[in-house]
Amino acid sequence: MPVKEFFKTLVPVELFQGLGVTGAYLFRKKETVQYPEKRLEPQDRFRGMFGYSLERCIDCHLCAKACPISIIHIKDHTEVEEVEGPDGKIKKKKTKVIDRYDIDVKRCMFCGLCEEACPTDEKSIWLTTKSYEGAVYERNEALYFDKERLGSWEGFVGFPGVKAPAEGQLPSDPLGKKKAAEGGA
Ligand code: SF4
Ligand code: SF4
Repeated sequence: MPVKEFFKTLVPVELFQGLGVTGAYLFRKKETVQYPEKRLEPQDRFRGMFGYSLERCIDCHLCAKACPISIIHIKDHTEVEEVEGPDGKIKKKKTKVIDRYDIDVKRCMFCGLCEEACPTDEKSIWLTTKSYEGAVYERNEALYFDKERLGSWEGFVGFPGVKAPAEGQLPSDPLGKKKAAEGGA
């Protein structure tokens, strides 16, 4: 055995190299957080739990058509009423009523195509809610959201500071920071 190799077997160089790497981490900024006492705020583009606004929704079905796995289920009917026009003539006014707007969230792959397809301004369906704590013990019913639950988020815990959609959450400002800044300006 060459002399150099012999001394290498006596001094555990690799061990000290490994300890050096470990020791260097002692002085670096810690990346871990003490969840759930502390939560990191997701980025604005993060796709999490769905928000849905029945008030803004125009019942165009574009979100359901855009969904590649067909997990958005919409049913509606048209109501016709007779109204008097400005010329005094009776006219028929048609109104579409959404009976059912369901999302089978357990099957969702969070691609965001439904949100992209939605033509309303603000979006009527959105995933930029910064909210992700949707763990449940039974997923078939608990992760199937109808239009009421998509608005109320009943049984779902939103990110701290994020209101349920029915309480006024906006897709472009889920934490209400921009609104607060405008109000304070
Ligand atoms: S985010 Fe989910 S519901 Fe929306 S299009 Fe993608 S798979 Fe469908
Ligand atoms: S695309 Fe938007 S407006 Fe159209 S049905 Fe879906 S949520 Fe409603």
